[in-house]
Amino acid sequence: MERLRLLVHSTAETERRTLPANIAGTLLVIGAAQSLPNAADFYIPMLLRFLALFATALLYGRIRRRLEAKANTLVPMRMASVVAAFGGASWASIVLPIFLDPYLHPASYIVTAGVFISVALVITSTSAIKHIAIPYTIGFMATFLGALAFIPLETALWLAGGLFFLMGGIVIFSIGSGRQRLESANTWVHNRRLTEDLEEALARAEFLAIRDPLTGLYNRRALFEDRIYENAPRNRYHVLIVDLDHFKQVNDRFGHDTGDRVLVGVATAIRDVLRSLPGEGHLAARLGGEEFAVFLAIADDTEADRAAECLRAATHRVAARFGLPPGVGTASIGISSMPRGEHVSKALQRADNALYEAKKSGRNRVRRQVA
Ligand code: GH3
Ligand code: MG
Ligand code: MG
Repeated sequence: MERLRLLVHSTAETERRTLPANIAGTLLVIGAAQSLPNAADFYIPMLLRFLALFATALLYGRIRRRLEAKANTLVPMRMASVVAAFGGASWASIVLPIFLDPYLHPASYIVTAGVFISVALVITSTSAIKHIAIPYTIGFMATFLGALAFIPLETALWLAGGLFFLMGGIVIFSIGSGRQRLESANTWVHNRRLTEDLEEALARAEFLAIRDPLTGLYNRRALFEDRIYENAPRNRYHVLIVDLDHFKQVNDRFGHDTGDRVLVGVATAIRDVLRSLPGEGHLAARLGGEEFAVFLAIADDTEADRAAECLRAATHRVAARFGLPPGVGTASIGISSMPRGEHVSKALQRADNALYEAKKSGRNRVRRQVA
């Protein structure tokens, strides 16, 4: 489908760029025909030719609009085939008056050559889309051969032979060039898919470089090496270590899968609390296992303690939602302030001491170590 779009697009673009040449060619052929003694016989073919030009321009205009709108079906293929067949027939109709009433007038060569050159160009340029190239060729040949029924047999045989010879050459050339185009289109589509896969892999690699794959929170590297907290405004912050209580029991009693889901639930709860806090620059990372670091772009102690308490309560709610026993899956939190410019690992060291106090004094609580 993608390949067909590409081929149709390139054919429609060719049609647009060659429309002036197409009109000029038609005018040249028609002008030459006017020098022939039976000029009047060309009136109806001329009309047909202009109708075909008009129909083709309309058709490709519609195709281009649908391509731009990224519509699923570009155009009913049957309609495209009918317009193509009509286009071929209209060219044949122009050459017919010459055969029906042959003169040794130079203009007759111009008309004949002009028609065959135009037909050859159209067939080769649309050759990759068989719904257009085949009806076009058939329309041209059928009209041509049909008209031969009205002329003397010997002339008809000569012309039919000539037609098959010429068209045979054009068709063989077109099949070759059509294949070439199909192959280019295949390569293009293939390359595009590769590029898409590559972009996806790159985006994933970029994501994984700074994110924890299970929870989507930042990872240790983002926190300690990339120092993602450094863009935060203000001169004083707070850091927290959140460690889930007796988490080993979650795995032991409910299975590792449930453990993972609890971790994801807690990460989501942390993200929600951070989002609800005033100001910007708060962030959370998974340090490993059931341990999270939270960076609060909050200077005030009381405000920071309140946020920590929110985190503790939110984690408690997650544990309750999973039906964990009392004291399991809740959060012990150590908090410490952090002056701007200090490396987060130093502040986390103080927070870790505070966490130890929180664990020792009964878990599911927040403790602070003063900097
Ligand atoms: P404490 O209250 O003292 O922190 O007890 P605890 O059981 O939480 O502490 P401990 O460090 O002994 O155990 C942590 C457990 O966390 C061990 C491991 O089974 C579990 N764990 C670590 N990483 C993962 C993980 O990615 N998925 C799951 N399901 N469990 C994990
Ligand atoms: Mg723990
Ligand atoms: Mg732990």
